[in-house]
Amino acid sequence: MKKKYPRPQFTQGTVNRFGQSRIGDGLQVLNSNARILQPGEFTPQRETMSPYFNQDNLGLNSERLRSMMIERLRREGIKDERVLNAMKQVPRHLFVDEGLASHAYENAALPIGFQQTISQPWIVARMIALACQERIPHKILEIGAGCGYQAAVLAQLVPQVYAIERIQGLYEMALGNIQHAPHAERIHLHYGDGLKGLPEQAPFPAILVAAAGMDLPKELLKQLSIGGRLIAPLGQDEQYLVLIERTGTDSWNRKLLEPVRFVPLRAGIQP
Ligand code: SAH
Repeated sequence: MKKKYPRPQFTQGTVNRFGQSRIGDGLQVLNSNARILQPGEFTPQRETMSPYFNQDNLGLNSERLRSMMIERLRREGIKDERVLNAMKQVPRHLFVDEGLASHAYENAALPIGFQQTISQPWIVARMIALACQERIPHKILEIGAGCGYQAAVLAQLVPQVYAIERIQGLYEMALGNIQHAPHAERIHLHYGDGLKGLPEQAPFPAILVAAAGMDLPKELLKQLSIGGRLIAPLGQDEQYLVLIERTGTDSWNRKLLEPVRFVPLRAGIQP
């Protein structure tokens, strides 16, 4: 399937022999928006899937590659079949640069330009599984839409998906990308500062944050329904995925989960 929307102008990146590369300098894509493995834990497979890819068979094989990705997620502890099925519906290779399409189904974060990354599939699945444990929220807020991939996976499960992105170029890219996923009409993308949340749509039974800060503003925590769940990476050099549950009008519970590495959560917008 060819992309219908023009790509935004590149504002980051290095020049290679093909023109502009979207890989910005300084960003370590292999450990951004990804789980940090401890010694003895499974090692992600980094095999290239290029042999399965060429222009003629992309559509056909992407389904097979997605199935392989699902099998790997299952081996790596993602048990929720609803989440695995949602991941199977979304063509991740259409959310990344064409030059990176052959890596789209590896368990890795990949650059999307503007020094940001598309989250590792394991992270996307893990965060969604936590939000949907023992329930399916009727609406969800994602902060840090990036290229729109996680919002697209969420839309396979959740009837109303609100997602905010602070970088205008990525917001525009996401608007185009989500059209490649089923149920795109369930996604409401906003260009703005996600730290402010979306008061006009609050409260949310679930909030996912796709970038790491030291803490989260009360303003955002207050947009969680009572009984609602927020999942976010917290920390700077050392980051952990954290599950926050709102237990009352002025009380929240925090549970520290696995170590992760995410791109930074920043205030304000970037036109
Ligand atoms: N959810 C994406 C991951 C994108 S990376 C995926 O599906 O792969 C995280 C994104 O968070 C980046 O695009 C970054 O620009 C964005 N971000 C950081 N701080 C933000 C903020 N305050 N408001 C909205 N987006 C923010």
